Parts: sequence; C-alpha cells; structure tokens
Amino acid sequence: FTITQTRDCPVSAPTHAQVTFNEFGLPVATAFGDIYFNNENGLAETNYVFLQHNDLPARWQTDYVRPFVIAESGFGTGLNLLACWQLLLEQAPAELKLHFISFEKYPLRPDDLRRALAAFPQLSDLAAELLAVYPPAEPGCHRRILAQGRIVLDLWVGAIDEQIAAWLPHSEQQVDAWFLDGFAPDKNPDMWQPELYEAMVQSAAPGATFATFTAAGKVRRGLLQAGVNVQKAKGFGVKREMLFGELRGAIAPHAPVTNNVKQVTIIGGGIAAACLAHELSGAGVSTEIISCGVADAASGNPQGAVYPLLHAERSPLAEYFSLAFGYATHFYQHYTTNHWHATGVVQLAYTEARQQRYEKIASARTNGGPGYDPAMVQFRSTAATQQLWQELPAYPALHYPTGGWLAPAAVVTQLFQGHKVKPSATLTRVSRSPEDGSSWQLEFADGQLLERDTVILACGAGLKQLLHPFGLQLQNVRGQVTQVEASAVSAQCPLVVCYKGYFTPVSQGRHCVGATYDRDSEDLTLRPADQQENLGNLIDNLAPVSWPKQLRPCADRAAIRNTTKDHLPVVGELKPGLWLLGGLGSRGFTAAPLAASALTAALVQRPLPLPAQLWQRLQPQRLCNR
Ligand code: SAM
Repeated sequence: FTITQTRDCPVSAPTHAQVTFNEFGLPVATAFGDIYFNNENGLAETNYVFLQHNDLPARWQTDYVRPFVIAESGFGTGLNLLACWQLLLEQAPAELKLHFISFEKYPLRPDDLRRALAAFPQLSDLAAELLAVYPPAEPGCHRRILAQGRIVLDLWVGAIDEQIAAWLPHSEQQVDAWFLDGFAPDKNPDMWQPELYEAMVQSAAPGATFATFTAAGKVRRGLLQAGVNVQKAKGFGVKREMLFGELRGAIAPHAPVTNNVKQVTIIGGGIAAACLAHELSGAGVSTEIISCGVADAASGNPQGAVYPLLHAERSPLAEYFSLAFGYATHFYQHYTTNHWHATGVVQLAYTEARQQRYEKIASARTNGGPGYDPAMVQFRSTAATQQLWQELPAYPALHYPTGGWLAPAAVVTQLFQGHKVKPSATLTRVSRSPEDGSSWQLEFADGQLLERDTVILACGAGLKQLLHPFGLQLQNVRGQVTQVEASAVSAQCPLVVCYKGYFTPVSQGRHCVGATYDRDSEDLTLRPADQQENLGNLIDNLAPVSWPKQLRPCADRAAIRNTTKDHLPVVGELKPGLWLLGGLGSRGFTAAPLAASALTAALVQRPLPLPAQLWQRLQPQRLCNR
C-alpha cells in the first residue's frame, strides 16, 4: 500500500559525532574543537559539578512515590548517566528508581562510545550494559531499560531545540534535577539559548535544581532572566567558577506531581494487554485483566516477525515504527528470555520497483539528507544478500540486522507472569454507568455487568464493534498463516525472510509462512485457497531458488487483525477514564511495547517516550467519523 503522509514539522536526519582521540586517549569533537570531559579526571568532574551540586544522593534518601527525574543537555559519552547509575547502586535506597532523560544532536558512533568509556574501567559493567542497548541515530525518543528496570533512559536524538519542543508538552513540572552540560558556550552558542532555560524552568518539579560546569556571563544572565535562582561555586580543577541553584527560585520540598489512578482494568489477552499489564505494574499501578482468552487470537500465531515499516520520506508511520522497533527488540531481549530470537530480517527486492523503493529507503545519509542509520536498516546488493544465506535468491534486499522473530504465545504468557487474567465471556458493550455517570459499565455476552473507573480496551479485533457506538472507525482484516515441515535446506535458514509474505527460521521442525490479508472477512474457517496463496507467494517471489517448492504444509491458522485507515496504532484516552490500545495490524509485536509504554506514561502523567506531535497522531479522536 502507499502512504504519502509527511511530517508535521520536518526534522533533519541526525549525523554521528565526528571525533578524534587526543594524547590522553579521550574524545574530542572535531566540529566544536572541544572535549567531552576533563582530561585529568572526567568522572570526578561529573561527580563534583552535576551530582554534588544537585545534592545527590542526599535528596534520594527520602521516600519517593515516583522515579527521580534527571534531564540533561548533551548525552555525549553517557558518562553523567553512568556516574548517576553507580551512585544509585551504591548510595540510594533500593526502592528508588531513576528516569534519566538526555538530548543529543550528534550521537557518538558505538565504536567511539566504547573507546571513550574505556577510560573508566571502574564503570565497565555499566558501560557494557549501555552499549548493548545504545540506539541508532534516528530522530526522536529512544527509551531503554537499564539496571533491571531501576533506570529508564530516554535518549532524545536531534537538536535540543527541536527535541525539547517535542518533549516539553508532556514533561511540565516533572524534572527534579537538570544537568546543563554541552560544549563550552562560546564554542556552541546554538545550544545555550533562552528557550532552553525557559524549558528547564517549565519542566522543573517543585524543588528542582540545576548545575552546570560553566560560569559564562551569558549563561548566568540567561538563567536569571528565565527566573532561575543562580548561585556560584568554585569550579572543578582549574576552572574558577561554576553555576548551580534552584530552577523555580524558591526552595520547596519535593512534592511530586502524581496522578490518582491506582487501579486500571485492561480488557484483552494478547500482546497489547500483556505489554500494558507489564508497563502499568512497573509504574506502580495495579491492574485487573479481563479476557476471553490468552494469546488465542491475532497474538497466537506460531511465530511472529519483528521489523519496522519504513518509507523513504519520513512519514509519521515510518517515524513511529523506527522508534517502536528499537524499543520492541530491546524490550523482548530484556523481558522475554528464550522466546526472542534476534536473527535479523531480510526483505527481498524481488521486483524492479521494490529494488528502487528499498534503495531509496536505505540511501546513504549524506548532508542531513534522508536515509536511516545503517545500524537499523541496510541496503544489500545481490551478492551481499546471498552472504546472509547462500540459499536466498539472487536479489538485492533490505537488511534489518537487529530484527528477528519470537514465539507470540510464549512472549504474551511471560509478560502476564505475576498477573491473573480473569476469564470472561466476550465484552459486548461499553457505556457510561447510568448510576454515577463517571465510571464505565462493561457488559459481557453472558449478561455479566461490571462498573469500573478506568478501563483500557486492548482487545484487538473486538475493538471494532465495541467502538462503533463512539463513532470510531476501525477495520478488521483476516489473516491465514501456513506452517510447513522443515527440509534439510530450509532448516538452515538463519533469519526471517520477507517478500510479499514472510518465512521464519525453523522452530520445532516447522516454519511459518504468512500471511493472507483479507479485508472482507472475519470468518475463521481455514481456507485451502489461502494456504495456496501463502505457498504460492513463497515459491514465486523466491523463484530463482527451488527449495521452497519442496516444502509441505502441515497446519494452518486464521486470525483477525485490527487496523486503522492510516496504519498507525490507536493509543490514548477516548473519553475520560476510557483508554484504547489497538489498530496494531500486522505488526503488533513491533508496535505494542512502545504504544503500551506511551499509554502508561500518559495515564500516570510522566514524561512520554514519544514526540508530542507523534503522540497526537496516535489519538483515537482522529478515527471519529462525527
Ligand atoms: N554529558 C556528556 C557526557 O556525560 O559524556 C558530555 C556532553 S559533551 C561536553 C556535549 C554534548 O552536547 C555533545 O555530545 C554534543 O554533541 C551535544 N550537543 C551540542 N549541541 C547540541 C544541541 N544543539 N542539541 C543537542 N545536543 C547538543
């Protein structure tokens, strides 16, 4: 299908930092002629300037009902993050969680990051953990889970003025401490702007503080102008002075902005509901999950592929999937032991038109032009494609090295662990309670009635009919997959192969070949014609090779996917207290983790892991026909 949406406001593709390493083995930014940290003792400087002058960890010793939020200008090598992380492990109460938000215009290449952090052997374990989840240089927010869930890192890639505009609407009064880092103001005047100081104040929670290594007059005056209470202290090492103070000018006790939602009812038993249960309980919200089944509908296929949907133009759809894909693979790696297989995914250009499209998608990112980070997607010549597996046909391809496949039901079950899924008949109607007008009445097919204050509908194909009375347009699309017995050749297939359909690596002696896409039917009866279509696409699209012809079908499965007309998921609050997570279409396992994380953040009023304009695009109201 073709989608020609363009972004609301264009964001240029980020470029990696250009660095050299000096005589001390430390990184220097060529474009700025400045260092990332002090040559003698970068870690001591971080501790002195940013941790001590924000009064960490003393402020961590009191009880917190929400994570302590730090925001930083200039992620650089992540040294400040690692220093906080180490301090958290050594000196914070075990219950304390950290939300570390950082903005970076020129992300370091992973190899440069590794080399830079090698200067701190005492942080090597933490550095290795960071490197393992370090995101591609794609604009927007990359959420990553560190320290077994004690730290959430939101790395916003792109110029700070652009990214802060996308971040601030959902982060007002949230930040407890600002690390105003960055190259020296005279070397990087673009970053040290009044808008940044104003955003720092707007994002500041009561009692929030800031610290910066510089004492430049322009910075001091800018901060004062924004209403910040600025104090001077002796600078680190040879530096004469530095600045720190309270962002809101008044010393107030820590009074976090909290939301009263303590209990949420989730309707659904697939990947959307499972991710929600997981994220909400992580945010301290207790969940009641009600479903007529667990992973028995669209989340119940034998194998599912995880890879993004990209366009050569940076459409909202491509933007959502580039961020959701990175979070999903990281999320499965972190939380679903043994059920996630990071094999990579190859998408074959089996026609001339596809070859042109794929070339455009992965075209080299030069001079801020389009194209994606090769860490996420690469164009491969015919020869390079066949290096992935010599049994692939001679076509060029797109390769997603960090993609893969998972076992859907096992993943869903694992994410539900520790939660009880209450069995129910089908939910048939959701309406305002006639009693109090503020809660929601849930009516089930067996006549059961429930009243709940906060409900999230995450029940896939069931959403279409449930939301019809609200004027919401959703589509259901039938899909049939075919399993085939592995042959000696096919069993060697090392990665997911996509063409018009997809073919997964062997699992328990079988491959999964998918999937049909039928907009006109919700009938689950298996169809021989669909099986032929699945096998026919595999054989025809991979025609130059013959192994697909030898594969014998052994089972089929049909399910209904829920989709939207713009192919973006639907995520957000439809009416006060009634939330939705749906429209995940054919890529539910790629789209769901970030959607659930964003919905949770919106519900508990914490910083969102998505640019505000993209969040806006996901809202249910866009699908209302009245
Ligand atoms: N906090 C870092 C650390 O712990 O390694 C050191 C930061 S380094 C001194 C400054 C960083 O700010 C660089 O990585 C640079 O690319 C980034 N930067 C400079 N200008 C920026 C801008 N306008 N927006 C976002 N990041 C910027």
